[in-house]
Amino acid sequence: MENIRNFCIIAHIDHGKSTLADRLLEFTKTVGERDMHDQVLDSMDLEQERGITIKSHAIQMDYLHEGNAFKLNLIDTPGHVDFSYEVSRSIAACEGALLIIDATQGIQAQTISNLYLAIEHDLEIIPVLNKMDLPNAMPEAVEEQIIDLIGCDHEDIIHASGKTGEGVEKILEQIIHKIPAPKGDPEAPLQALIFDSVFNSFRGIIAYFKITNGQIRKKDLVKFVATKKEYYADEVGVLKLGLEPKDVLGPGDVGYIISGIKTAKEVKVGDTITHVKNPCEIAIDGFEEVKPMVFAGVYPIDAEDYEELRYAMDKLQLNDASLTFEPESSAALGFGFRCGFLGMLHMEIIQERLDREFDMNVITTVPNVSYKAHLTDGSTITVYNPSGMPASTTIQEIDEPYIRANIITASEFIGPVMNLCLDKRGELISQNYLTAERAELVFNIPLGEIVFDFYDKLKSISKGYASFDYHMNGYKPAKLVRLDILLNGEMVDALSTLIHFDNATSFGRRMCEKLKELIPRQQFDIAIQAAIGAKIIARETVKAVRKDVTAKCYGGDITRKRKLLEKQKKGKKRMKQVGNVEVPQKAFLAVLKLD
Ligand code: GDP
Ligand code: MG
Repeated sequence: MENIRNFCIIAHIDHGKSTLADRLLEFTKTVGERDMHDQVLDSMDLEQERGITIKSHAIQMDYLHEGNAFKLNLIDTPGHVDFSYEVSRSIAACEGALLIIDATQGIQAQTISNLYLAIEHDLEIIPVLNKMDLPNAMPEAVEEQIIDLIGCDHEDIIHASGKTGEGVEKILEQIIHKIPAPKGDPEAPLQALIFDSVFNSFRGIIAYFKITNGQIRKKDLVKFVATKKEYYADEVGVLKLGLEPKDVLGPGDVGYIISGIKTAKEVKVGDTITHVKNPCEIAIDGFEEVKPMVFAGVYPIDAEDYEELRYAMDKLQLNDASLTFEPESSAALGFGFRCGFLGMLHMEIIQERLDREFDMNVITTVPNVSYKAHLTDGSTITVYNPSGMPASTTIQEIDEPYIRANIITASEFIGPVMNLCLDKRGELISQNYLTAERAELVFNIPLGEIVFDFYDKLKSISKGYASFDYHMNGYKPAKLVRLDILLNGEMVDALSTLIHFDNATSFGRRMCEKLKELIPRQQFDIAIQAAIGAKIIARETVKAVRKDVTAKCYGGDITRKRKLLEKQKKGKKRMKQVGNVEVPQKAFLAVLKLD
């Protein structure tokens, strides 16, 4: 145990976690030259392509220091807010953290929020100034920021580069000197924290854990405390570039277990593994179920593909327990699923995986958050879909979820950022200058306002010089109304939105204008109306056009005529018939494109 060190790397996205991890793996010869490629730990295709870390990954390095053999367990963490739950689990499995800061960017929103998580878990922090090879690195200024933030000395900050390898050996030495060895009693009942799991098509679910107390052996009968399920440990071992089976693992060890677990749902990140015989009395605390925050309908373009879509969703859920879905039907779109996602990036990733891995052509509806509706009969229901909101006459009060948003930006953009947040019904909590040029703004904002286009707007008004992170911050009552869209008098449930009363009229008008742009002209006039209850608040018309593709065929050639009709049908594929109106896929996301 004295020769084990468990650490994670925390940083704002793109500050160089994965690249620096590569250098550590190379330096310790954990990965041979032959296997080396950029960002080895990011194994999912999508991760490699987008250059982001989605799942956390763990790997053990052997390192000889002054004649002593050390085992260093590195736990890589995702940097994006949507996956912050995984960050906090990974952190809970460590005794120390490398805090990586890009020397050209300085401290950003996620640097701070991840640092707070690490401090909460009493981790020893090793500050690392990365990208020192770049000519625009500003080490003095960023060091001042770091010292302000964590109260260390200049000498404590390691200068490094994931590109040149500068500082890598120093980092390894500091890991050994500064980070405490794990504690734990090998004789005590088994207590192991599950911090991640992956799906492997040959071996089923592989759960990653860190042992706090006790030992685990191959063939042991173990129990997962939260799910109450029991399994035989078919295989246990440590994580190298691949899996390395071991007979026994003890306190402080980071390892994996394979035990006939079929789906990710059976393994709850944050759960405790113990023995069925002689179980531990208390689970390792901090377990909380991950809850999806953003919901959207996902519908097959062709109704016949419904079962295939269900199959694809089942498969995705096998290795992504944070994805939830249940069948839903829409008058406009037919049968599909209401899916829950951790955030907007998660939603995008799932959509992309459906397309890429399953070749599924789907229509996704506008994302929304979940609301609590307190009804006049005293009951409370949770509403996941605007069209599921009960009639306003039966509602006493609607509560919507809020987030606490941390935004760090250059001083010159404080005004525009402030305006954007206020426009999104945000409430300023604090404003704090980190340096003369940079400020941290903290806002309470309804989550529902963030899911639309907040990120994009923030990026464009700050010219990219603002970073953003958030945490859930409870529910608050809101004056919300349901805005419906009617096409030729028929309500299209998939286009309903919940919107703040004060913004409803202008929103309805913009929706109608946008839909007019997006819905192609057809053989009759199409009336587009926005309504709140029975009251129409806006209207536009798409004028009729007669587009007769067979006119040129002189009535003669039947096969040619059929071919043309066939072709016309194909062109409509990405359209959905709603009543007598054909609505293109992009119209269902019109809300996201309002100016
Ligand atoms: P992560 O999001 O924190 O995992 O960041 P990555 O490791 O994916 O790095 C983000 C980008 O910065 C990539 O394009 C890297 O090639 C680049 N990068 C990372 N470290 C360095 C460095 O030390 N110097 C330079 N010049 N570029 C780096
Ligand atoms: Mg990464």
